Amino acid sequence: MDRKHFLKVLASLPLAAAAMDLKSLARITAPLTPTERMPVLFLGHGSPMNAIEENEFVAGFRQAGASLPKPHAILCVSAHWETRGTQVTAMPHPRTIHDFGGFPKALFDVQYPAPGSPELAEETQRLVKSTPVALDHAWGLDHGAWSVVKHLYPEADVPIIQMSLDRGLSPERHYALAQELSALRDKGVLIIGSGNMVHNLGMVAWDKLDSPFAYDWAQEASERMKAGITSGDHRALIHFREQGRAFDLAVPTPEHYLPLLYALALKQKGDEVSLFNDKPVAGSLTMTSVRIGGN
Ligand code: ZN
Repeated sequence: MDRKHFLKVLASLPLAAAAMDLKSLARITAPLTPTERMPVLFLGHGSPMNAIEENEFVAGFRQAGASLPKPHAILCVSAHWETRGTQVTAMPHPRTIHDFGGFPKALFDVQYPAPGSPELAEETQRLVKSTPVALDHAWGLDHGAWSVVKHLYPEADVPIIQMSLDRGLSPERHYALAQELSALRDKGVLIIGSGNMVHNLGMVAWDKLDSPFAYDWAQEASERMKAGITSGDHRALIHFREQGRAFDLAVPTPEHYLPLLYALALKQKGDEVSLFNDKPVAGSLTMTSVRIGGN
């Protein structure tokens, strides 16, 4: 980052940020320098309550965070930000969005004050050629991002941006767009897709909320998804609409599934793939999460 750009970022920081220590400021303004290739994650985020509960999934997120090299920045594709056209958040201080209702006050009290990265937003805009990428200054961090990233980086000291899901793109085009982000892996950027592979809220078994129960179709879809993920043959996963009843029930709407395609599209030759938090909950959801590379 040159001096002019640095001063621009400095000037755009709110007054509260003046108290921020210099180390954090240095991190926001640090250039995206070449690094070892960063791993890529898909995180099954499940209930927003995972943000404040202690459970095996939270332990899994923490463990995943501890096993990763510390990134310069994070780019998160969350199920909870769908737009017309592709956007990336470009503000220096994204707000914590509580995009849910009916949960305890303790959940609404959570703030995740990680800085943004206007520089990564602009770099992402430059990298993607297949579709225009707009810089957003209104969104922030929705719970698809902060409810899980807070367990990876509880200090909120890694700059983070979100990339939206363009409702107008086919799954093939989402996958191709994600591949264009590949260079970011070599610049210290941790790319995270956050959703749930099997996600049918209309069929939740409310009496089995805390149980690893899965309906037969959820089990079948989950097994077939995992077979595609671990074999590296993503064709059936991209064409998930042609996979029959189990997939149709597991993916009634695409927004929680598409972040998986973003993660898979970034797999490169030689990247190992591993699963964690690989469990169903409440019949119609799976928490299965994926780590690609860096093993
Ligand atoms: Zn969700």
